[in-house]
Amino acid sequence: MKSEFSDTQLLLQNTLREYLTREIEPLVSDMEEGSLLPYEPVRKLVRDLGLGEETGDFASLLADSAPEDHLGLFLPRIIPIELARVCGGLCLSHGASVGLAGGVIEGRGTPEQKERWGLPIKRCEHIASWCLTEPGAGSAAIRDMKTRAVRDGEHYVLNGSKTFITNAPYADVFIVYAKLRAEGEAKSRTKGETDTVQAFIVEREDPGVETGPPFKKMGFRSSPTGEVFLQDCRIPADRLLGGGIGERDHVRSSLATERVGLQLISYGIMERAFDIALEYSRERHQGGQAIGTYQLIQRRLARMYMALYSARTIIFSDVHAGRRLPASVADICVGKLYIAEMASWVTQEAIHILAGNGYMEEYVVERLARDAKLMELGGGTTEIQELTAGRWLFEHHGR
Ligand SMILES: Cc1cc2nc3c(=O)[nH]c(=O)nc-3n(C[C@H](O)[C@H](O)[C@H](O)COP(=O)(O)OP(=O)(O)OC[C@H]3O[C@@H](n4cnc5c(N)ncnc54)[C@H](O)[C@@H]3O)c2cc1C
Repeated sequence: MKSEFSDTQLLLQNTLREYLTREIEPLVSDMEEGSLLPYEPVRKLVRDLGLGEETGDFASLLADSAPEDHLGLFLPRIIPIELARVCGGLCLSHGASVGLAGGVIEGRGTPEQKERWGLPIKRCEHIASWCLTEPGAGSAAIRDMKTRAVRDGEHYVLNGSKTFITNAPYADVFIVYAKLRAEGEAKSRTKGETDTVQAFIVEREDPGVETGPPFKKMGFRSSPTGEVFLQDCRIPADRLLGGGIGERDHVRSSLATERVGLQLISYGIMERAFDIALEYSRERHQGGQAIGTYQLIQRRLARMYMALYSARTIIFSDVHAGRRLPASVADICVGKLYIAEMASWVTQEAIHILAGNGYMEEYVVERLARDAKLMELGGGTTEIQELTAGRWLFEHHGR
């Protein structure tokens, strides 16, 4: 079948897929069972492929590539997709550390913060967590945030707790969002009125930081998730990200990055499920013929492919258009909403085509289905995508 990818893009995709199948796939069951953390495999991957470096195979490919290949945009999309095909959990842990926590330092940090914390995170020497959600603040994470930061001389003191945080049980560095009372504001004002949400760089060794054990969860079992507790956590004033951003946009731009990242993981998961189901439909014989010859199976395959094709079009239209992110808030939200829902649906369909075998761990699709559900919850649930897209369309579309 002719691919819409260019020859260079295809070469990259194949190289990645071969590498991941050879080096990462054999480790997946240990990671899923929890006997192997994803961090050493992530470090090996980053080292072997030269990710996060200015030099190396990928860097020189990028430098030598033709502009129409858009490799600078293609790579950040194809890498998570290929990773998620093999191990969603490893992809999530890597993405939360490098893409979210590292990305926010890269985008908003001071030069010193980029050097001291950003670079080691980018190279996966340090693992990071991006800490927004709290026990009482999920969908309304900013409005209902309880974690507070108070300036005390040359320090900030943080109090609060975060939950459902990817990598938290083992992270070296935490980007913690907290409400900070603006300096010099009258104390008589209503509590919360002058608060801004700020991000702080917290290290595991800082006083007053504790993390809980990894949660036991439905899917993404190879990605540790846990709580972060901050009790009178005193950190130097230079840990305020970007020296203070003074508005909420940095949370929003991280959410945009996260939502696109989740589109890619969703796509990787559903593409793998589709491939497994298609292959199985050719090999499995019932009633004297391959089950794929039955039109009722072909109908399922066609409908699964319809979702896959639409999702791929959404994801790669930005690359072809030369955009790093989708064109609008609504595009980001409906893209995430659609691809996440389709990942859940396609993986369930794959289980159905494999039937009894589909229900067994060995055939992988049950893991893909368990993983897929998170895509409808994390980075803002389905409802939050609908509400955000709807509001944006009402206020901006066509104006
Ligand atoms: C495995 C995993 C990893 C995660 N990793 C991270 C991470 O690294 N960093 C981080 O900060 N967070 C992380 N999260 C948290 C995730 O982003 C939240 O779970 C998500 O935002 C939803 O919040 P909640 O679970 O508190 O649900 P709630 O906000 O309590 O929602 C419960 C239900 O109410 C609905 N609802 C809420 N508000 C509205 C409304 N206004 N209108 C209609 N319906 C509404 C929701 O859609 C949902 O169905 C992770 C979660 C999981 C499960």
